[in-house]
Amino acid sequence: MAFVFYRAIVLLYLIGLSSQRMSYYDGVEMPKIAIIGGGIGGTTVAYRLQQIVGSHLSTFDVYESDRVGGRLNTVTVNGKEYETGGSVIHPANQYMAEFAQMFGLKHLEGADGNFAMFREQEKVFETSTNSWISSLQLIWRYGLDLIRIQRSTSRLLSDFGRIYGWQEELQSFTTVPNLLLAMSDEIMASTKMSFKDKLDELKISMKFTEELAVAAARNNYAQFPASLHGFVGSVSIAGAEPGLWAVQGGNYQVPQHLLKSSGAQTISSRVTKVSNITSNSSRPLYRLETADGLTAEYDLVVLAFPLVKGAVEVEFEGFNTDIKGYEQPFHRVFVYIVDGVPNHKHFGYDSLHDMPSIIFPLSENDFYNTLQEIVPVSGDSNPQKLWKVFANTKLTEQQLDTLFASRKSMEIIDWLAYPEYQPDETFASFVLAPGLYYVNAIESAASAMEMSAMAAVNVAYLMVNEWMGHEHLVDNMFIIEEKHIKMEL
Ligand SMILES: Cc1cc2nc3c(=O)[nH]c(=O)nc-3n(C[C@H](O)[C@H](O)[C@H](O)COP(=O)(O)OP(=O)(O)OC[C@H]3O[C@@H](n4cnc5c(N)ncnc54)[C@H](O)[C@@H]3O)c2cc1C
Repeated sequence: MAFVFYRAIVLLYLIGLSSQRMSYYDGVEMPKIAIIGGGIGGTTVAYRLQQIVGSHLSTFDVYESDRVGGRLNTVTVNGKEYETGGSVIHPANQYMAEFAQMFGLKHLEGADGNFAMFREQEKVFETSTNSWISSLQLIWRYGLDLIRIQRSTSRLLSDFGRIYGWQEELQSFTTVPNLLLAMSDEIMASTKMSFKDKLDELKISMKFTEELAVAAARNNYAQFPASLHGFVGSVSIAGAEPGLWAVQGGNYQVPQHLLKSSGAQTISSRVTKVSNITSNSSRPLYRLETADGLTAEYDLVVLAFPLVKGAVEVEFEGFNTDIKGYEQPFHRVFVYIVDGVPNHKHFGYDSLHDMPSIIFPLSENDFYNTLQEIVPVSGDSNPQKLWKVFANTKLTEQQLDTLFASRKSMEIIDWLAYPEYQPDETFASFVLAPGLYYVNAIESAASAMEMSAMAAVNVAYLMVNEWMGHEHLVDNMFIIEEKHIKMEL
């Protein structure tokens, strides 16, 4: 009963807030805001701030040292662009879908194709190019595992989806665990056990764990089920579901549009120093310095890039806490985009025509994570297909010759791609110091476009809620403990 009453109050409050939004902020001194990073995270913060308080912000800057889009990028081969970083979007990802629709960007549906799994040179399993036969093969091999995993993925997506409702109500969370608890206890608990243990708990067979789960975890996060936590492992399984899509013309267009629509000033410069120059006043104050010698002061600063151990070139001065202490190791992933002919004989195929669209190597001794056929982002009806390889190290000529019989051209992209996940994860806070926010704290839960967008919405609301003193919209215990309240009803 308490919970129903609470929701009614919040709804009434929001109806009032949206109808009076303009006058609501009148007379309130609005903060000067800097966002460091123009990836999907930083541009989503900028866009959401524009939506809620935009016209009231006097200073609103986004610093980007490289290109807007960050880990969303393409490479051009023979005049066509191919995704090299964040590529696929799940059909349940509401923010990415909303953004694409808002900016009139079309969906590019995932290409059909079969896959094969190899343990070193031994083929373990291969699906048919006919999707019906392929489904039957999977049922025959994995039986009830498929039903159990599908149920678990549906539950995960449904729990995850609850965050959209809370965010519609401008609710915000200061920590990743609180945000995950607002989704469900199960999601939070799954970050505290290995993916392998999570699969055991779901009564999934060893065969599935050692085959499909390895393929998914390795393809998406370059790790094995025993070494990463259950939530990120489950996200990697969701990434194997049907209906995946990408933005026609390139995913990077989304952050570009978001930034343009945000009205923020873009400063194309690398921030080199963030100094806490807060005096005795109750409000924080920060000074930013850039590689180009610019300096500016802000009330609120958002870090919208990951604090990668050994790679952060920003100095933090004047903080009580050691901001660098939040740095975490990231996987270096080499992405090869190859215009060439795969070495079908190495995989035991008589002709190139017989090669599956994706090869998943299952053994730790295999030197690559995936070999897959890719199409350009243009959505051509008769696309020029290339091959993409993910590897954890730079490949030698010999290794490349193992995978390819011939190569016309090859692009290599060296990413600091995503965190090195732990089976029992710890999380940085979204608030590293008063007025200093960290969107990429979410990446320890799972690195994905939608995760960054969702965390960015959270940070945008958190900033405004904290600035305006809306305590009931920050870490609301009714939400975090909603399940307990529901049980009482
Ligand atoms: C190979 C690969 C494959 C992936 N596949 C998928 C996928 O299929 N689906 C999916 O959903 N996700 C995928 N991801 C993950 C996804 O791309 C990321 O989670 C997401 O793009 C992160 O966005 P972000 O804005 O949080 O960070 P970033 O994109 O890293 O943006 C941070 C930005 O900050 C800028 N910056 C950093 N330091 C400074 C500074 N000091 N001053 C100014 N600017 C600075 C950087 O230049 C960068 O543009 C993949 C990632 C990789 C690398």
